[in-house]
Amino acid sequence: MDAPAIVLLGPPASGKGTQGRLLAREEDLSYFSTGKQLRREMKAASPLGKEVEPYLAAGQYVPDELVLALAIGWIRKVKGGWVLDGFPRTLPQAEELDRVLGVDGARLRALLLEGPVAELERRVTDRRECTACPWTGTRVQAELSGGVCPTCGATLGQRHDDDLENFRQRLKAFEELTLPVASYYEQSGRLLRVWGVGSPEEVFQNVQSELA
Ligand code: ADP
Repeated sequence: MDAPAIVLLGPPASGKGTQGRLLAREEDLSYFSTGKQLRREMKAASPLGKEVEPYLAAGQYVPDELVLALAIGWIRKVKGGWVLDGFPRTLPQAEELDRVLGVDGARLRALLLEGPVAELERRVTDRRECTACPWTGTRVQAELSGGVCPTCGATLGQRHDDDLENFRQRLKAFEELTLPVASYYEQSGRLLRVWGVGSPEEVFQNVQSELA
């Protein structure tokens, strides 16, 4: 069987990271999040990090050419099946990905995670993450563990872009620029819609039944 090629689409806080990591673990796929990588670059104050910082601070998408270099560079190196979280997010990115994949583009599946805005807003303000490892959780979980990561012991915090004003900007960008990407995949029969409300395990069951 051909190795899976999966892209995750969805509004901010729809659970792309959580589902992407579960999928990668269960199906033995490589996982890459453009958002997470961009935040890493910012933290390291690399040239790319410095360039993208104003966009992320404003809740805007970063220019296509910067993300394309990052995501396509990763795909070219990866062996076997993969899942991409947060790429492609614009039509030019989706078209370029198809050009790079060539005939393999036919086996790509785009999972669109959907949920009501009130639930997404609640998650954004509630979300906490580890400053050092991939752990993410809720405000209550962070409090229960005394503000330190249950996995690695580093400090827990909030993502800098997780405030409501920034969330609304990101949601606007999603509606304007990423919903057309969902239509693009729908037109070529590659879109799968997943209801993203429920526990991570419940949503993951929806993901698996869509992919089956
Ligand atoms: P969320 O989906 O919650 O907004 P992400 O971690 O996926 O979080 O992305 C955070 C930010 O990184 C985005 O708001 C955007 O500024 C930037 N980003 C990530 N992926 C892309 C992409 N493919 N194209 C443009 N900008 C991107």
